[in-house]
Amino acid sequence: MTTYQNYINGTWVDSHSGQTISITNPANWNEPVGFVQKSDQNDVSSAVQAAKQANSTWGQLSPIARGAYLEKTARILEERIVDIATTATQEMGKTLVETTGEMGRAIAILKYYAQEGWRKTGDVIPSSEEKNLLYTTRVPLGVVSVITPWNFPIAIPIWKIAPALVFGNTVVFKPAEETSITGIKLVQAFHDAGLPAGVINIVTGKGAEIGPEMVQNPSVNGITFTGSNGVGKGIAMEALSRGCKYQLEMGGKNPAIVLADADLDHAATLVVSGAMKHTGQKCTATSRVIIEASVYKQVKEKILEKVKQIQVGNGLDEDTYMGPVVSSKQQKNVLNMIEKGISEGATLLYGGKILTGDQFDQGYFIEPTLFEDVTNDMSIAQEEIFGPVLCLIKVDSLEDAIQVANDSSYGLSASLFTRDLAKTLQFTQQMEAGLIKVNGESAGVELQAPFGGMKSSSSHSREQGQAAVEFFTSIKTITITP
Ligand code: NAP
Repeated sequence: MTTYQNYINGTWVDSHSGQTISITNPANWNEPVGFVQKSDQNDVSSAVQAAKQANSTWGQLSPIARGAYLEKTARILEERIVDIATTATQEMGKTLVETTGEMGRAIAILKYYAQEGWRKTGDVIPSSEEKNLLYTTRVPLGVVSVITPWNFPIAIPIWKIAPALVFGNTVVFKPAEETSITGIKLVQAFHDAGLPAGVINIVTGKGAEIGPEMVQNPSVNGITFTGSNGVGKGIAMEALSRGCKYQLEMGGKNPAIVLADADLDHAATLVVSGAMKHTGQKCTATSRVIIEASVYKQVKEKILEKVKQIQVGNGLDEDTYMGPVVSSKQQKNVLNMIEKGISEGATLLYGGKILTGDQFDQGYFIEPTLFEDVTNDMSIAQEEIFGPVLCLIKVDSLEDAIQVANDSSYGLSASLFTRDLAKTLQFTQQMEAGLIKVNGESAGVELQAPFGGMKSSSSHSREQGQAAVEFFTSIKTITITP
C-alpha cells in the first residue's frame, strides 16, 4: 500500500508530525486506497514559505509562458485519465463515468486558462492631460491557498489552481482529507510538466488542524475555498480581519419548478438526474421539485418510476448509476435528515434506508429517496442534505412556486421546466439564484461561464470563467506624465 507524501518546494516530503492517515473505499471500507501525510501547521508554513519564495520569479514570467505549463499538464492528465478517475472513485465512491467526466472537464479547464494567458488584462484610458499615459494593468495576488471539498476532487481543484497559476500566483493546495490521493496525483502532473519548485505545493491532513494556518498565515494573499457554510464563514471572518482576498463557494438547496405546460418526461428525467447523479453530493443538486398541482400526480409518477430504476453499487462497476455516499459521517447525516423528514410529517414515497446485502454491507450505501407532502418549513426543505434525497412540493401557480423556491437561505442554482416565454422571463427575473436553467438540470454550468450563487451560497464574487481574473489579480491604475 503506497504512502503518499506532501509536495513542498518541488520535493516530495513526509510531514513534520511523522503521522499518516489511511484512506479507504466508501464502497468497501475494508479496501484501503493508500496512506497520506497527517500534516501539521509546520508543514503548511513550509509550503507557504516555498510559495512565497517562488512567487516573484513565477509572477514575472509572461502569462503566455505560464499558460504553456498548463497546456503541458493537460496533456499529461490526458494520459492519466483512467488512473486518476479510478483513484477518485475509490476514494469517494461516485461512478467511474462521473470521475472520468471530471477528468475531461479538468483537462478542458487547463486548456481554457492556458489560452487566457494570451488575453489582454489591462486598458488604456483617455487622459484629460494631453501628454499623460493613463492605463490599468493587473498583477498577481501572490500566494493563494486552495481549499477544496471531496465531492468534485478533480475538477474543483483544477478550476481554482489553473487560473491562480496563469495569472501569476503560487499555490498551497489542501484537498479534502477523503480525496487526498486524487489531489496528490493532480499535483504530480504539474510536477511532471516541469513547473518550477514552489509554484505549486500540496499539504494533506485534517482541515480543522491545518486549515487555520492556510487561512491565517500572513504570507497568504488570497484564499479560494469550496465547502460547507460553517467552515466558509470562519474563513471569511479570518480573511476580513487581515484584509486578505477570499472567494467562497458553499451550499445549496436547489429547486426545480415543473409547470403544467412543460415536457413532463423531459422534466422528470432531468429532475432525477439532477438529484441523484453523484449520489446527490453536489452543491447544485436538485433537492426540491416544485410541481404545479394540475400535473402533480403525473410528474410524481414519472419521477418515482425513474428513481425505482436507479442501479446502486460500487462506482467501479459498469452498470452502477449511483455509488455510495462518501463516508460514515455523511451516511449518518443523510439518514438523520430522512428521519427528520418523517418525524416532521413528510410522506416517504420511496427509499429512506441503508442498502443491505453482500454487495452493500461494507459500504456507505443509501437508497435513492423520495419524499412528498413536503412543506417548505420542514428541515428537509430548508437544510442542505447532500445525499440522494428529493422532496416533492405541490403548488398552485408559478407565483407560488417562485415564492417557495426563494424561501431559502441559499441561492445557488434553480431550474424551470416550461414552454412559455413569459413565464420563463418572470422566473429568470424573480428567482434568487446565481445559476438559472430553463428546461435544463439545476446542476452544473459550462466552464467558460462565471459560476456562483446568491445569499449564503457564495461570497458574491463570481468564480472563474472570465471572472477569474478579477479574483486572482489586483488592478493597478497607472498615470505616467512624461
Ligand atoms: P467542508 O467540511 O467545509 O470541507 C471543505 C474543505 O475545507 C476540506 O478541504 C476541509 O478539510 C477544509 N476544512 C475543514 N475545516 C477547515 C478549517 N477550519 N479551515 C480551513 N479549511 C478547513 O466541506 P465538505 O464536506 O468537504 O464539502 C461539502 C460542502 O461543500 C457542501 O456544503 C457543498 O454544498 C459544498 N460545495 C459547494 C460547491 C459550490 O461550488 N458552491 C461545490 C462543491 C461542494 P478536511 O476534509 O480535512 O476536513
